[in-house]
Amino acid sequence: MRFLLALLLALPLLAQTKPIYYLLWFDTEDYVDPASDDAALRLAQTLEKMGVRATFKVVGEKARRLEKRDRRDVITALSRHDIGYHTNYHSIPPAPAAYQRILHPLEAVEEFTRREEPGLRDIQRIFGVLPSCYGQPGDSWGPAANVALRRWGVPVYMDDGGQVGLNGQPFWLGGMLYVFNLKGKTLRPDINKPETLDATNQKFDGIVSALREKGGVIQTYFHPTEFSATEFWDGVNFLGGNYTPPEGYKMPRRRSPESAEAAYKALFDFVRHVQSIPGVQIVTARQMPLFFHNPVQLPTAAEARRHLQSAIDIQGPYSAADQLLSLLGLEPQYVDGPVARGTSVTAGPTLSRMLFERAKQDAIGYIQAHKRLPHTIWAGSDRLSLPDFAATLAHDNGGPEIQIHKGVTAFERHVAADTDKTYGWVIHPKGFSAPELLEQARLQAWTLKPAVLR
Ligand SMILES: [Zn+2]
Repeated sequence: MRFLLALLLALPLLAQTKPIYYLLWFDTEDYVDPASDDAALRLAQTLEKMGVRATFKVVGEKARRLEKRDRRDVITALSRHDIGYHTNYHSIPPAPAAYQRILHPLEAVEEFTRREEPGLRDIQRIFGVLPSCYGQPGDSWGPAANVALRRWGVPVYMDDGGQVGLNGQPFWLGGMLYVFNLKGKTLRPDINKPETLDATNQKFDGIVSALREKGGVIQTYFHPTEFSATEFWDGVNFLGGNYTPPEGYKMPRRRSPESAEAAYKALFDFVRHVQSIPGVQIVTARQMPLFFHNPVQLPTAAEARRHLQSAIDIQGPYSAADQLLSLLGLEPQYVDGPVARGTSVTAGPTLSRMLFERAKQDAIGYIQAHKRLPHTIWAGSDRLSLPDFAATLAHDNGGPEIQIHKGVTAFERHVAADTDKTYGWVIHPKGFSAPELLEQARLQAWTLKPAVLR
């Protein structure tokens, strides 16, 4: 009896334990130095022997060079792990953020597609699988990727960057599952200082303890080239937006055999430590969508109204877009955020019932046709910005005159302020920044919401 009581008391505690997922990924990008091919091979083969599946995000040009150099061994070894995509040419200018920032957002999608789809298709041909994920080169992030990746059927955006983040855990943005900006949950053993490994292992244990109750995601990333060279392949060829033609490629400085061995050992010892921690599951990008609740769900209209009256913000698992769709009586579906920031221009402080009902129908028609939120909603010759429309709709009490309310998009706080650090990648031209893309991110943050673990 006492045993049974103890068991009953323990049950809720057991039920509270949520899964902790660990991702190990490698940006496999160095197409300049063939020594990095061997590094990728060694990483893939040793991890496989250890029973670990990693994710190799491969650059299109890297895959083509592996093919040209007849490295079937490398291609096969990587294929036994998960394969992601890491752009067609990585560091050859213009970087993704550089060309996207001066294009209209819809044109940027077409241009991203023109530049990047050929590399994706090469990866698919060479590795025999559609990449599971994409990540930008350096910090060259732009929202056009989301739309293109959805069209290609690539469901996960996996990288690190500071442009957007949500509590240091995965989130949904632009219809993509983002493993991004995990902050303290991104942990890299220092492969040049093996003596720090114990401290890194302890740090990992600390992260695991902090995640025990709610569950969560931890990641480690490296580049195979870091195990063969002491400097980055693109730093010596494409620094500050410099273009070097293939015949002029300079090799990065190589590691000594001893230093390479120490680097491999530091990583593998760290991964063995990760493997030894109960309750931590090592997973790949391809598995990630399975671990989260279906994001295509809406709150009830009553919930949406109550929330939108107080703030235009993420509420629980729902994005601001989800709440607006519900309030408009639309079916659960994914729609993009607006492409611009509208401005309200009205003759007075109210709208007539007749005109406001027309405006609602117009908003519904736009969303259904374009699968995107309108930035401006017309009520006769008056017009409301999307936030003002959402706030006005939430406060509509059914009377003959509708009071216009000002809407404030609180969710924009999850997008980084414009600083030169946000886009400070050394391959970008010196002093590069992209405030236009951060503004696009704020608009697309209508779709931002946490990824909720099952
Ligand atoms: Zn990279």
